Amino acid sequence: MRAYRASILSFATDGESGFGAALEEDGLLVVGPDASGRQRVQASGPYRQLKTRFPAVHIEHLPGRIIAPGFIDMHNHFAQTNVIGSPADGLLPWLERYTFPEEQRFSSAQYSAEAARFFLDELLRNGVTTALSFATCSTESVDALFCEAQRRSLRLITGLCLMDRHAPAGVLNLAAPDRSRSACEQSLLDSELLLLRWHGKDRLGYAITPRFAPSCSESQLQGAGHLAIRYPEVWIQSHVAENRDEIAWARQLFPSSASYLATYADFGLLRRRAVYAHCIHFDDQDRTLMRDSGAVAAVSPTSNLFLGSGFFDFAAADRVGLQYGLASDVGGGTSFSPFHTMLAAYYVAREGHSKTGLSLSPQQLWWQHTAGAARALDLEGVVGNLQPGCEADFVVLNPQATPLLGRRTAQASNLDELLLAMIVLGDDRLIERTVISQAQDVLLTIDRP
Ligand SMILES: [Zn+2]
Repeated sequence: MRAYRASILSFATDGESGFGAALEEDGLLVVGPDASGRQRVQASGPYRQLKTRFPAVHIEHLPGRIIAPGFIDMHNHFAQTNVIGSPADGLLPWLERYTFPEEQRFSSAQYSAEAARFFLDELLRNGVTTALSFATCSTESVDALFCEAQRRSLRLITGLCLMDRHAPAGVLNLAAPDRSRSACEQSLLDSELLLLRWHGKDRLGYAITPRFAPSCSESQLQGAGHLAIRYPEVWIQSHVAENRDEIAWARQLFPSSASYLATYADFGLLRRRAVYAHCIHFDDQDRTLMRDSGAVAAVSPTSNLFLGSGFFDFAAADRVGLQYGLASDVGGGTSFSPFHTMLAAYYVAREGHSKTGLSLSPQQLWWQHTAGAARALDLEGVVGNLQPGCEADFVVLNPQATPLLGRRTAQASNLDELLLAMIVLGDDRLIERTVISQAQDVLLTIDRP
């Protein structure tokens, strides 16, 4: 076992107090292996109280630092790291001009492995310890990301991208080499093989991954829905209602569905552990459908601002009780940094011309990227918080990382002021260390050089 003495940020766990954050100014975090060797939080609380309970445990003192739960990124694309910040006139031109040509390269296992290494290192450098990620339509890309995540003992969820139409040939799912199976049949078979190979192995999870309804034939969506029924513990990830052109297209392709979102429901793809990126252009019927199905939204504000897609309606989601959490959506999103994502969410919520504007509290923003995201992913009590039993994934923040951060955070007179100062001024420099729970009594520690 080992222990860390610092300020400790954590969130309410009773489900009643919502996101209630608390900062233990002089805290102690004790971590150690469970029966299977997995590193978990053993205790977290005031240093004065806990030091006598663990007299033999070595304590690392981190004065002036804040220990906080590792961040959870609810939606990103590991194959899009190289296209961040590409200029285009909205979502569909951006996909055609930059994203599809880059994703073609991931049919190479070697290219995929190098990209996976960079991507996961970048997540960790930014304090992201759990992610729900898109791979591409090549099985090589999925194996590469799982492999590299397993090597780092990360909690990572991904799956084979399902896309058998409406994209250049090089990025679509492929038919069996001997033509014995169509691209649709082969993609569903590959999904199941990958699922059986990776889901539940160490901390990895599989997600059935239709890219978005317009890119999938009816048979492919149907097959994905059958997999979702046969394997209720795996996740589902896709996109919905990001952009008005995309919605018009989806409505044209699936005219009998009540809405774009309802298309997914019609194919059995709305359920617990289903995560849909964006969810911008919804009405209350959509929000209610999503809430009642147990599916959740991955709100991706830097991406939505960058591609001019629109503004997620936080007030309407809260009114209906639609669950959501925050996501980078790299490479449509512009940053791996959870601080940039939280700040963009704050801007988007404030926008009050196209919808009701509101000021999200700093505690709520932070919760939506940690404990709240864990709840949305059905991983509450597993990651995203620091109560005993949680896997020991956490970050060490240095509020003096830059002159301005140091000057501003020193003026904070309460927790909300401190959190918002870090959200507004923070980036990867604020993350001094990222610690990942590992098996066999080892913690993976990544320090800033
Ligand atoms: Zn996306």
